[in-house]
Amino acid sequence: MNVILAADIGGTSCKLGIFDEELNLIEKWEIPTDISEEGSHILADVHDSFRSKEESLNFKVEESLGAGLGMPGPVDFEKGILNGCINLNMKGKRSIATTFRELSGAATIVDNDANVAALGEQSRGAGHGHSEVVMITLGTGVGGGVISGGRLIHGTGGSGGEIGHITVDFDGRFQCNCGKKGCLETVASATGMVNLAGYHSDDYENSVLSAAVKEGTLTSKAIVDAAMTGDPLAEFVVEEAARYLAAAMSNISVITNPGYFIFGGGVSRAGRYLTDKIKKYYDTLIFPPAADDMEIAMAELGNDAGMYGAATLVKQYLIKK
Ligand SMILES: [Zn+2]
Repeated sequence: MNVILAADIGGTSCKLGIFDEELNLIEKWEIPTDISEEGSHILADVHDSFRSKEESLNFKVEESLGAGLGMPGPVDFEKGILNGCINLNMKGKRSIATTFRELSGAATIVDNDANVAALGEQSRGAGHGHSEVVMITLGTGVGGGVISGGRLIHGTGGSGGEIGHITVDFDGRFQCNCGKKGCLETVASATGMVNLAGYHSDDYENSVLSAAVKEGTLTSKAIVDAAMTGDPLAEFVVEEAARYLAAAMSNISVITNPGYFIFGGGVSRAGRYLTDKIKKYYDTLIFPPAADDMEIAMAELGNDAGMYGAATLVKQYLIKK
């Protein structure tokens, strides 16, 4: 049987899937990620786990159509190199594609986890296969991926589609993990909402969030919950985060003119409450022709998105047409 092997490798578990050539899922399962000894067992464990399915599913790893791997760190897509990864306990550059190909005998393609999740949602989830899709993942940071012409944008050195680092806070109030200030992620992620609440808390002394701000225990979930019950500080923070997201989206919209913006990640559980606010600002900022036929959607594949995207990469790049 012709199969595609797909793995979404995370810091605690690896989600593995076997797909047919048309990207239909045949079987999926998970294995724990062993990050001991600088993550040196991870690829071998993934390979062994694929091998363990050969008999029951009637395929050979080395005769597969290819393996797609999503990794939770910065990836040089052309070379298949992971450039250090804290979550996997890996330091320095690792030749992931070459190593897995040597282990398995299967052609291998590698990308970072945010990109493969975006591609999964585009091809098999909320994007419905539309060729122009942008995914924005609102978690601890702001991740995402930009798909144009049906393909992920990587750019010269892999920084293409790093939506979280679009500059939106021109006052540069908060430091970003990337080294600069003013990034979208400093004002719109879970961390960003907490940043904003702390910055503006003196203006809203009666907020139910005040104590948590002072104690340094505030979470984005508490902010969203309080906003929904009408707390003025919390409402202000969510409005601000929505406004910054809309500004970034309006900038992206004149570059790739997406048909879908897909929201995923923990913060996006606020659902329509958040997207309605985003849309309110977006409608005032968008280049009017780009607003036509653009939809805001919520991610549909959950934790399986990366696995679907890794399989899609194999179909796009490794299967000879
Ligand atoms: Zn940044």
